[in-house]
Amino acid sequence: MRKLPLIMIDPGHGGTDPGATPESPIEAGINLAVALHLRDILENQGFAVIVTRLVDRTLSLDERVMLEHQFDSDLFISLHCNAAADPRAKGIEIWTAPGDSPADPAATEIFRAVSKAFPDRRLRTDYTDSDLDKEARFRVLTGTLGPAVLLEMGFVSNAEERAWLQSTATQVHMALAIAAGILAWHRTLKDQAHARIDDIRKSHPGAAC
Ligand SMILES: [Zn+2]
Repeated sequence: MRKLPLIMIDPGHGGTDPGATPESPIEAGINLAVALHLRDILENQGFAVIVTRLVDRTLSLDERVMLEHQFDSDLFISLHCNAAADPRAKGIEIWTAPGDSPADPAATEIFRAVSKAFPDRRLRTDYTDSDLDKEARFRVLTGTLGPAVLLEMGFVSNAEERAWLQSTATQVHMALAIAAGILAWHRTLKDQAHARIDDIRKSHPGAAC
């Protein structure tokens, strides 16, 4: 791994694909706004960051996956908003590929940070497999080579949550919370690396490492 991980931020949809619902084609713009705030925050923290699309343009799922392969990012985070036929549905959820995934620790830290930042929002978790993330074979989760998570930041099909998601204050707070989660995840990686080095030192007392 590089000294600081390369984070790839993937704002869902864009261009000819506006996102979640025909009646509220606003998802792509919300995803992009949060992505750009998140990029700025992570860059300020010294992370290397690539955003899969910087403007409102069409980008296929395969193109997003190919970018991940090309840059070999340490974490790929796709940002989306949810929609449901029932206008009452609301809440935040995070997704990883099925089974034990290298993305699980990142998903847990990001979701924890987002839950802490928005204690009043509904959190949609799935603890049936002993962790909080939901699992699906989304193309950006199964096609990517490194850890990949997909955050559904709320439902644009719910009037209250749509207004909340469209507010700049929410978008900045969401980006700050995601960044806090990524930083926490990165700290656990560093702690694990140090623990491994300590183990090597203990098993090789004479080694100059
Ligand atoms: Zn979406």
